[in-house]
Amino acid sequence: MQADLFILKKTPGKGKGLFAKRDIPRGTIVFFECPKCRVMSKKAFRRLTPRRRERLLFHSYTIKDGSVVTPCGDSVYMNHSCGANILDTGKGFDIVVRKIGKGEEATYDYRTFYDEDWGFTCKCGAPDCCGTFACRHPLPRGLRAKWDKLLRPALRLARRVPQPLREQLLKHVPGAWRYLG
Ligand SMILES: [Zn+2]
Ligand SMILES: [Zn+2]
Repeated sequence: MQADLFILKKTPGKGKGLFAKRDIPRGTIVFFECPKCRVMSKKAFRRLTPRRRERLLFHSYTIKDGSVVTPCGDSVYMNHSCGANILDTGKGFDIVVRKIGKGEEATYDYRTFYDEDWGFTCKCGAPDCCGTFACRHPLPRGLRAKWDKLLRPALRLARRVPQPLREQLLKHVPGAWRYLG
């Protein structure tokens, strides 16, 4: 489930993207895997034809245990950036790690996913752009530390900023209360 904070727009050279409807402060939780997000087991996914697998992956991502998640809503249109303003906390939700100004594009670091054989030339423009995108685990050296440095203050701020998904997080994400105060 995604917080109702973004609009879907065409973006030059990148297809579609999600843009902030208003200023979104650091610490805002914007997405979590809810009961409406579809999850296919690794086993079921492997049984699909290569063509169906490819089509499914276009709107989905792979998590650590090999399951394939198709998120509800527009989240799949969030583009990758190596300097993303939203990151995976590893706690069942995604959080804004840099303030997103009204009209600014929301971006996510896809390197947290476990999609095998997926790569593209990254043109995100971040100073430390990976150049060629791939999902590698363990993560490239220093990346985990870089994310943790951004995630720590964002998680501390979570209890002080408005949380549009608060009720749903408390209901569906075990342990979310720790961050929501
Ligand atoms: Zn959902
Ligand atoms: Zn990049």
